[in-house]
Amino acid sequence: MQANAPITRDVVTIPRKIEEGVRRNVVGLSRDALREALIEAGVSERQAGMRTAQVWQWIYQKGLRDFAGMTNLGKELRVRLAEHLDIRVPEVVTKRVSQDGTRKYLLRVGGGSEVEAVYIPEEGRGTLCISSQIGCTLTCSFCHTGTQKLVRNLTAGEIVGQIMVVRDDLDEWPGVGEPFPPEGRLLSNIVLMGMGEPLYNFENVRDAMKIAMDGEGISISRRRITLSTSGVVPLIARTAKEIGCMLAVSFHATTDEVRDRLVPINRKWNIATLLKALREYPKASNSERITFEYVMLKGVNDSDEDARRLVDLIRGIPAKINLIPFNEWPGAPYERSSNNRIRAFAEIVNAAGYSSPVRRPRGEDIMAACGQLKSATERTRRSRRKGRADALPPDTGPVARE
Ligand code: SF4
Repeated sequence: MQANAPITRDVVTIPRKIEEGVRRNVVGLSRDALREALIEAGVSERQAGMRTAQVWQWIYQKGLRDFAGMTNLGKELRVRLAEHLDIRVPEVVTKRVSQDGTRKYLLRVGGGSEVEAVYIPEEGRGTLCISSQIGCTLTCSFCHTGTQKLVRNLTAGEIVGQIMVVRDDLDEWPGVGEPFPPEGRLLSNIVLMGMGEPLYNFENVRDAMKIAMDGEGISISRRRITLSTSGVVPLIARTAKEIGCMLAVSFHATTDEVRDRLVPINRKWNIATLLKALREYPKASNSERITFEYVMLKGVNDSDEDARRLVDLIRGIPAKINLIPFNEWPGAPYERSSNNRIRAFAEIVNAAGYSSPVRRPRGEDIMAACGQLKSATERTRRSRRKGRADALPPDTGPVARE
């Protein structure tokens, strides 16, 4: 990356224009907004509260995707709602299932763009990693998504919709008469660690997570939701106050010099500024420990000295350090640290009293590194298009080649 390249392009969320004739999507609306939408569709003010609760439960508790099946609503009302409103979630373009059970989805959202979500099953629980933006403005040099341009922020509906489509795929909506929330959930945890910087799409992420936490809907507790930021310092306190979920930070380096290279947002908010904001986080949200993510890059940030500096830096912060063996992607400028190096690093961190689990690489056979599936799918499409174009007769003009 050039030294004078922009670190962050501030993103203004421009609400997507609702195309005329397209019914309004209710997925992602807050309860209040849903109430308004129902009133606009013809529900009386007097009944609006009750109808909102009923529709909400059908969508987020039972996973229904059409109004016709909402049997506790009158038939006439169901028809009217279907005329005005829609229940739309992202569409699965590609799904890959790894030998270890990890599922990686490429999802098409409004306007035809695509984002990734990854489901990681574990003993007694399952974590879904979701995206908050299409692409990313930041250019973390170890991250594949960082090589993709930002297209736009996802809407709240597109963020919570990722949880809903994966629940569909896992067939995890409770049937009529079955307990809710279901025992031993397959999808029990959410991490906002996919494509994008969630705090650059704060309002939509917040609204989506409020829906995910709602006890009469998807019902995932705030302690089972982790938002991972690269360090957007001014929004950390707001995250505590307005979302209250667990926080993870892409830390990855112990000196500003190295972090400037790995996580360039560090040039805007350096390590000292970030740590100050983090020290205040648990108090504000009453959360448990902050997770420090630390990707292990051979010869870059993985020395004993780094480990010692890391524990000195975070002293006093209730923390857990997640050591992540680098998930290499084609053209990546780094290599994964050796297992012995990772072990030695972990020992130093452990000895200082911090838990430092080494994340087991998952889904390597299905390109689970963030952003990889999207790029690979685009590459395949490009080469198919090229193949088709090459097969056209030479006198075929550019229009026909499109
Ligand atoms: S690590 Fe996160 S913030 Fe950094 S480039 Fe990748 S997606 Fe963006």
